[in-house]
Amino acid sequence: MKSFFNSIKIKLLLILLVFGLVPFVLFSALALWTFYLYPEAMGLAVYVRFGFFVILVILSIILAALVLSRKTTEPLQEMIDVFTAVREGDLNARVKIATKDELGEVARTFNGMADRLKKLYASLERRVQQKTRALRDKVLKIQQEKAKDEAILKSIGEGIIVTDNQGNIVLSNRVAQEILGWGGQVFSGKPLSSAMTLQDENGVPIPRDKDLFQLVLARLQSVSGTYYYSLPDRPLFPLIVLASPVILNRKMTGVTMVFRDVTKEKEVERMKNEFVSLVSHQLRTPLSAMKWFSEILLAGDVGHLNSEQNEFIGNIAQLNERMIDLVNALLNISRIDSGRIIIDPVPTNLPQLIQEVLTSLQKKIAMKHLQLTVRIKESLPLIKIDPKLIREVYSNLLSNAVKYTPNGGEISVFISEKEGSIVSQVTDTGYGIPPQEQRKIFQKFYRGSNVVSVETDGNGLGLYLVKSIVESSGGAIWFKSKLGEGSSFWFSLPKKGSKSKKGDVSLSS
Ligand code: ADP
Repeated sequence: MKSFFNSIKIKLLLILLVFGLVPFVLFSALALWTFYLYPEAMGLAVYVRFGFFVILVILSIILAALVLSRKTTEPLQEMIDVFTAVREGDLNARVKIATKDELGEVARTFNGMADRLKKLYASLERRVQQKTRALRDKVLKIQQEKAKDEAILKSIGEGIIVTDNQGNIVLSNRVAQEILGWGGQVFSGKPLSSAMTLQDENGVPIPRDKDLFQLVLARLQSVSGTYYYSLPDRPLFPLIVLASPVILNRKMTGVTMVFRDVTKEKEVERMKNEFVSLVSHQLRTPLSAMKWFSEILLAGDVGHLNSEQNEFIGNIAQLNERMIDLVNALLNISRIDSGRIIIDPVPTNLPQLIQEVLTSLQKKIAMKHLQLTVRIKESLPLIKIDPKLIREVYSNLLSNAVKYTPNGGEISVFISEKEGSIVSQVTDTGYGIPPQEQRKIFQKFYRGSNVVSVETDGNGLGLYLVKSIVESSGGAIWFKSKLGEGSSFWFSLPKKGSKSKKGDVSLSS
């Protein structure tokens, strides 16, 4: 009923009927009233004719109203049809009303809107197509990159595991699965700690706070080291592991672990160490004998030597001494590298230890007229270190300072306490180390290009040994040097002391 009266057509029809019929009904009523007033003038035939006339007029009015309302609302219906077609997506539908009245205006406005909509739609479609094409290209590129990454991952000889930032495995390559003996098990989504339990050299699992994932998480930088792993059918074997954070938009999104089974390398290293150790050992006996014989000769125990003979034997004794130093250094390095060295920490008085080293260097210091400064923090507690090893550290650093400082220079030793460590500093005003060579300073056999011709006495093994000793005593070593101005070496030792280590050899001196 409601929608019936909502129709414009019906409304118009009603209006036309009301406006057409009401005047006519009034007119008919007036006529009837007139007939009533003058009955003598009226016959039945007049009434009948009047009745026909009234019915005819009423029917004509209804017909005219119907036709008029229909004619008036026809364009509206057409518009509704076209609007509906456009709404349904037919953007070519247009209203075909060309009249100049308001309806014609509405039709033109609508047709203009439809034209604009069509253009907008077309340009939108073009843009969507462009974007879709670009997106498709991107997806293709990503797929190609992914395929490339997967191919690289497969072909890499190292084991690779990628985790998310919760430590759950997201990806692993075949080599990783083989090394870790997963045997076809799927570890994707599982915690790294359950799929790769690293151990120390004694087979003790690495504690959670030293776990590589946790270290990377805490430091947000790469961490590497040698760890051990075992399988049911394979006892402990070494792995070199590098763990790096995966950073995306300055946020850590995971960790990449790259690792390699270094059993063979370790074996080769062990054989090399054994060889060096054996050769050094064999050389020590004849060298000691030569030293002994030259000392006898120089002392004149087997007859007086003339000055020339004395000079020659003296040279032989000196060169022999250098050979003994080299052989000892090689022997010590092979012992340290093999991990067989004993670390036997005992409460040690550091100032006293330094004094002993300085006494042994006293002659050289005096000969070069070097000015020596020693400043040691008062009431320094005894520290639990292996005195034999740490003496070697001071001895090397101080003898380098003496060796690489020209006559009349200064050398100083400072000892201080800093956040759980005791820090020793050895500074000189010597030749310094060329900046481009500084990264090689702790490498075996490195000798500075600025000193090889000035100071021939050296084998480039001292600092390597020093670094190995400091690190195996739980400390760290670093330096600063300026060419032509001097160098400073620092090393720290933990105040709580070094950890003892069982082994089967000690340093030879
Ligand atoms: P060596 O002194 O027997 O050559 P080291 O391993 O002790 O071996 O030192 C390696 C090299 O480092 C030296 O040859 C020298 O070039 C440089 N170096 C070490 N200490 C100093 C120093 N205090 N001043 C200048 N150069 C130094």
